[in-house]
Amino acid sequence: MITIEQADRLKKLPPYLFAELDRKKAEARSRGVDVIDLGVGDPDLPTPDNIINKLAEAAREPQYHRYPTYTGMNEFRKAVSRWYKKRAGVDLEPIQEVVSLIGSKEGIAHIPLAFINPGDVVLVPSPAYPVYAIATLFAGGIPHEMPLLKENSFLPDLGQIPADILGKAKMMFLNYPNNPTAAPATREFFRTVVDFAEKHNIMICHDFAYSEMTFDSYVPPSFLEIPGAMDVGIEFHSLSKTYNMTGWRIGWAAGNAKIIDGLGRIKSNIDSGIFEAIQVAGIEALEGEQQCLADMRDIYTERRDVLIGGLRKLGINVEPPKATFYVWFEVPSGYSSASFAALLLEKSGIVATPGNGFGSPGEGYVRMALTVSKERLAEAVERINTAGF
Ligand SMILES: *Cc1c(COP(=O)(O)O)cnc(C)c1O
Repeated sequence: MITIEQADRLKKLPPYLFAELDRKKAEARSRGVDVIDLGVGDPDLPTPDNIINKLAEAAREPQYHRYPTYTGMNEFRKAVSRWYKKRAGVDLEPIQEVVSLIGSKEGIAHIPLAFINPGDVVLVPSPAYPVYAIATLFAGGIPHEMPLLKENSFLPDLGQIPADILGKAKMMFLNYPNNPTAAPATREFFRTVVDFAEKHNIMICHDFAYSEMTFDSYVPPSFLEIPGAMDVGIEFHSLSKTYNMTGWRIGWAAGNAKIIDGLGRIKSNIDSGIFEAIQVAGIEALEGEQQCLADMRDIYTERRDVLIGGLRKLGINVEPPKATFYVWFEVPSGYSSASFAALLLEKSGIVATPGNGFGSPGEGYVRMALTVSKERLAEAVERINTAGF
């Protein structure tokens, strides 16, 4: 027998706050409860046919069966740079300024390994996608939370970051349109970020996963379109949410060549790139028929209106989001995030994600994802009405 002990980096992981809810969800299902799961940020809609057909075709090509290039097929990276030109007016040199990723999560998880030494500080939003802080810890860095508060429109207040932290800060993660709060960012905010980055010598990593998942004709700005952004940062993006491709694992990072180079060097020592048939299908996603985007927005708009309209009628104060497929709202008074989520499941068979699970400033909120049909959302509202919170 040997002693099997996990490394300190695993012991340092923050507690998994959804464990209790996961257990209750499984238990409700085993009791035969018809659970309406609004907990998971994973599109329920299928990948568009033209993309699937392209993969099926490409999968038969022996040239794609070999190891892919580490940093991505040139053709895919060129398609990404054409997308940036069309979508954001940004000129990118496809080989130096774009790297393909096995989903953006992969790049987010690896980037601190390229730039963060033990003791360096990484500024991370909170509440947030958990990977920013965890990737920082894995690299030996120190995550410093920037609270996203309603009174600041869920943008970090950069003036609140203490000077001694700023002295040690090397990198900042941002994510707009935002998960979990659904908040958008303005160009003005991004301009402030570029100036701040220049002044304090901080690399910016902007996560743009929800750029196309929008409502009411809103077009979110890319960080890279801000003058000076290419000097200080990169943007992560992915086909996952835009084209219902979460299972395919394809994304990219684009922007400053030195930052892209560092990420590429880490990757080339850890993974061997994305199956090239999937990259060929990715080009089809970016450059084929785009009707699927309008269809997706119509479907989420209907769902949003059913859920928001229903919750408002019940007296719950909730703002319609401009982007993402999340609805983020304050729990009724007298509840915490966890107690409200627990009661929703117990009384109504509805799973919502407690906001504190994304970081302590999320306490007092829950997140619902628009990843079930509008009929199921209407039923969810009806069940909440019957339970009478
Ligand atoms: C879904 C999501 C991603 C996308 O992850 P992939 O690895 O590209 O599937 C990235 N960031 C945030 C904030 C997300 O919610």
